[in-house]
Amino acid sequence: MPRYIALVPAAGTGTRLGAGTPKQYLEVAGRPLLFYTLRKLAAHPSIERILVVLAAGDRRFGAVSGIDLRCPVDALYCGGAERCASVYNGLLAARDGVDGDDWVLVHDAARPCLSAAALHRLIEEVGDDETGGLLALPVADTLKRANGEDRIAATVARDGLWQAQTPQMFRYGLLVEALRRTAGTGVTDEAGAIERIGLEPKLVMGEARNLKITYPEDLELAKLVLGSVEDAAGAR
Ligand code: C5P
Repeated sequence: MPRYIALVPAAGTGTRLGAGTPKQYLEVAGRPLLFYTLRKLAAHPSIERILVVLAAGDRRFGAVSGIDLRCPVDALYCGGAERCASVYNGLLAARDGVDGDDWVLVHDAARPCLSAAALHRLIEEVGDDETGGLLALPVADTLKRANGEDRIAATVARDGLWQAQTPQMFRYGLLVEALRRTAGTGVTDEAGAIERIGLEPKLVMGEARNLKITYPEDLELAKLVLGSVEDAAGAR
């Protein structure tokens, strides 16, 4: 039986937020975002182990590592220059304890609001898929392409367009191979690497609340979601 392992890239600097603190360590109700992300993944009964990929000089993880979670969390201090390099390095660092057929769920540290229902849906819908898949959300807004001066050059048809989210779930062996073959090509997520080697990852319905913290207003939204009755339970 393949196992389910979560891998959380948390080696970014989060400079777009304009804060001195990397975004995974920004706090909501006295806890870093990374705490909420790990707690959500660990709560799923199928997830056996969590790998957290940190920057080599990370000094902040200690405060998160003491928390009591349902499954073990391994800190890997091998983050790379890009998100995909962090994921690849983490996969290689963990290779001794993993089989090629094991499922890896790569989930951004900066997406702390993932719901248990969406995580469950991904595992159910992708668990017997040959290629793997990801949470994603059909684009709801009308899309505009800008010219170089913030004026509209065109309206882009949104039919069939989805926004990729995480977790992105692929077999360990396939994911390592895809990331190795696409390193340095500008791929920004695991699904992109799998596509580049000619496969078609499955799109599983995600959710708006599973936002990635990127701008200061995203942190305000995360506070609202994490402060809801459902998420507050057990957080304190
Ligand atoms: O910066 P971005 O929003 O793309 O980051 C998404 C996730 O990837 C975050 O959890 C961040 O910590 C992680 N990341 C990483 N290594 C990098 C850049 C980003 O682990 N070099």
